[in-house]
Amino acid sequence: MTLAADLAPSLDRLMDRIEGRRAELVALTQDLIRFPTINPPGEAYRPCAEYLGERLRKRGFEVTYVRAEGAPGDCEAYPRINVIARWEGARPGPCVHFNSHIDVVDPGQGWTVEPFGGLVRDGRVYGRGACDMKGGLASSVIAVESLLDSGIALPGAIEISGTVDEESGGYGGVAYLAERGWFSKPRVDHVIIPEPLNVDRVCIGHRGVWWAEIETKGRIAHGSMPFLGDSAIRHMTAVLGRIEDDLYPALARRHSDMPVVPEGARQSTLNSKSLHGGQAEGHSGLPSPLVADSCRMIIDRRFLIEESLEDVRGEVAGVLDTLKAERPGFDYVLRELFSVAPSMADRDGPVATAAARAVRRVLGKEAQFVCSPGTYDQKHVDRIGKLKDCIAYGPGVLDLAHQPDEWVGIDDMVAAAKVMALAAHSLLTAQA
Ligand SMILES: [Zn+2]
Repeated sequence: MTLAADLAPSLDRLMDRIEGRRAELVALTQDLIRFPTINPPGEAYRPCAEYLGERLRKRGFEVTYVRAEGAPGDCEAYPRINVIARWEGARPGPCVHFNSHIDVVDPGQGWTVEPFGGLVRDGRVYGRGACDMKGGLASSVIAVESLLDSGIALPGAIEISGTVDEESGGYGGVAYLAERGWFSKPRVDHVIIPEPLNVDRVCIGHRGVWWAEIETKGRIAHGSMPFLGDSAIRHMTAVLGRIEDDLYPALARRHSDMPVVPEGARQSTLNSKSLHGGQAEGHSGLPSPLVADSCRMIIDRRFLIEESLEDVRGEVAGVLDTLKAERPGFDYVLRELFSVAPSMADRDGPVATAAARAVRRVLGKEAQFVCSPGTYDQKHVDRIGKLKDCIAYGPGVLDLAHQPDEWVGIDDMVAAAKVMALAAHSLLTAQA
């Protein structure tokens, strides 16, 4: 008899055990949604972290709270409290870490249900954060508790963390912890982030980000004699023309090996997220007649693993320098606001393989390997923690994130918990 065959009945029992905890999984998700952990400003972080930590402490986890002192937004009113819980096996071995962010974005308008009520209806749990990502956090907790209850001998260690500020860049959360060794070997070997990428997909990474502000300069004059000035808005029109005619076609031609979903994001993209020129908005009465001496546009450029940040920056600077050479009076300032490097784990690496195998066993179909169009905390695990073996896998439909009436499917959460338990088991025991 092979080891794997010997193991099959106990893994089947593990699956039954998770199925039997469906109601508890729903209740845990509801409890987590009821903490209004809105970021900004960073509401209710402490009670939410303590709720999670207290639950796991009772289960024998060693629980540590780390406040990100000095991180953006950290203050007495809104302390950045992270929680990390660790369970140690009887023998040494690898560590599998499940990381979820506990913060959510502002509910905004358009809800037909209470955003922090945790309503259950038609097989779904509703609320801000239901899919992004308290449903995933709850699934990972039930997965790990069930695995520990199964009686299967496990070497190594399992960690579950609830971290803050992912929605604002993760600086008070995973980045802060990674800088202090919480996401590096030898402490941690494999990381699963239960972001809502759909239950049958294994997300191996994300594109890069570059935000910059372009300002065109002009010369102020009376609006009745614009020829005496030089309009910064007309100069910006020239910039927009070049972006439209040259840059967009160039970006559209650039294809990636990154399996980004949706398909439209499988190329480089650029979005002008704001544009303002001339007299400030928000005044009362009629505006005064002026030629604009400044026009500012913020661009949001998403780039591929095949591109470098230097290329991305150089491409936009090139457009502006060409205009400066060709267009009389053209002058500009380019200010960088924010950047994130792309990240992609090896799809043949341990954690991606273990998750894909578990998806096949639980759902009876091949997992799809994908990359996310936007970023998430994997960037910090990769760049700061120097840990490559990191994926996102969790229940929930990505398109519902940040929308009104956000929900997560209960069947999906149960299936995801099964996949997470099987993946953790195989990573710890090196058995399929
Ligand atoms: Zn998220």
